[in-house]
Amino acid sequence: MAARSSLYTCVNCGSQVQELFKQYSPAVLKLVHCGKCHKIADKYIEYDPVIVMIDLVLLNEQAYRHVLYNSPSQNHWRLAVILVLFEAYSEWMTHKDVKSSGKSHTSPYDLFEGEQSFYFECLQTVVGSSMLLLLTYTLTWLRWWVHAECRPQNYRNIILWNALVLSNCGKFLMIPSLIWGEIGTETHSLFIMGYTFLSQLKVYSVVCNTSKVGAGFIIFFGLVAKYYLCYMISNMKLQ
Ligand SMILES: [Zn+2]
Repeated sequence: MAARSSLYTCVNCGSQVQELFKQYSPAVLKLVHCGKCHKIADKYIEYDPVIVMIDLVLLNEQAYRHVLYNSPSQNHWRLAVILVLFEAYSEWMTHKDVKSSGKSHTSPYDLFEGEQSFYFECLQTVVGSSMLLLLTYTLTWLRWWVHAECRPQNYRNIILWNALVLSNCGKFLMIPSLIWGEIGTETHSLFIMGYTFLSQLKVYSVVCNTSKVGAGFIIFFGLVAKYYLCYMISNMKLQ
C-alpha cells in the first residue's frame, strides 16, 4: 500500500510535514517541529483567530501558509462572490457619483439605468478577475515548463485560486468610503490598489515559492491585462 502523501505545510519554510501536533491525552497536546527548519511547524493552531486575522492584514507569510494549507476550510468561493459584488458595487457607486455630480435631480429612468450599470459592473469585474487568474496560471505554467524543478511539491491550482481570492480582501478598505460618502478620492483608491498589489504579490510568492521580483512581474502583467480588458469593455458600453 502506497504511503499517504503529506497533508500539512510548515508555516516557516513551506516544506511538507505529516502532522502539526501530537495528542497524548484529551488535555495534552504537543506541537510538532518541522524536520527541515526545526521550528514549530504551525504555531497558529494555538492562536486566537483574531491574531491570525491581524497577521493576515500585516501580510505575514506564515499566517498565509496557515490559512491556505493547514486550515480546515479550503473553500473560498463564498468570499469570492462577496468580493465580486463588493468591487462591482464600489465601482458602480464611484461612476454614479461622478455622473450625478453635474445633475440637480434624478429621474426614475436614471435609477433604472443605474441598476443596469450595476449588473454591467458585476460582469466587468468577473471578466477582469478571470483574465487576471488566466494570465497568472498561464505565466506560472510557462515558468514551470522551463524550470520544472521550481514547482513546489504542495502546489495545487485550487490553492493558488484561494490565495488570490484572499489577497483581494484589501478591497474591503473601501467600506469607510461607502459609509461616509467620500468615495473615489484618488489617494484612497491608490492606497487600496497598492495594498492589494502587495498582498497579491505576497500570496503568489508563498504559493509558488518564487522571489518577490518574479511574483511582482507575473501579478503586474495579470493586473495590466485585467484593467485593459475592463477598459475595453467600458468603451464597448459607451459606443
Ligand atoms: Zn520548516
